[in-house]
Amino acid sequence: MKQKSKGRIIIVSGPSGVGKGTVIKKLIKLKEYALSISATTRIPREGEKHGKDYFFLSNIDFEEKIRSQAFLEWAQVHEHYYGTLKSEVNRYISKGEDILLEIDVQGARIVMESDYPVTSIFLIPPSLTVLRERLIKRSTDSLEVIEKRLKIAEIELKEQRHYTHCIQNDKIDDSVRSIIKLLNN
Ligand code: 5GP
Repeated sequence: MKQKSKGRIIIVSGPSGVGKGTVIKKLIKLKEYALSISATTRIPREGEKHGKDYFFLSNIDFEEKIRSQAFLEWAQVHEHYYGTLKSEVNRYISKGEDILLEIDVQGARIVMESDYPVTSIFLIPPSLTVLRERLIKRSTDSLEVIEKRLKIAEIELKEQRHYTHCIQNDKIDDSVRSIIKLLNN
């Protein structure tokens, strides 16, 4: 695990299909960062596991966690709840270790305004056409869901100005190299 004198939160955001998941997997493998596992009310996709990909919760359980202030941030994204558990983040920050958060632009704004040290990275797709192609190729969502995600992507792209770093995710390995470089500075 990457040791720092003080742990920081590293936010990675970007529209659905930009390649956040792949970039993060590579970052974790190369630099041994920990990834915060979020809670969500969306149903698991094929192969996704509770406690590994997400904590998959019912609406009732999620709302109970909102009430008990268990979340550092939460948001409604693509018609479902998503949230970062304080317990996940504190587990690493308290040990002086960095933790990666793959969260949407609404949640990112909340974390940026928190008392935690934060570095934020926004991944930009080469174009909306490329994004559409990637979402279709991924084939995890219906065409209706893809169109909805693309509409949201246009709004999300406007939020990039709030991030410390913006990287165009053309080639995954180049993006990962750039991120490692900027995190080491
Ligand atoms: P997906 O359903 O494709 O796994 O994720 C959809 C969106 O939810 C992505 O933009 C992802 O970054 C965002 N997301 C995942 N976990 C969280 C979270 O804990 N908080 C917030 N605010 N967004 C999240």
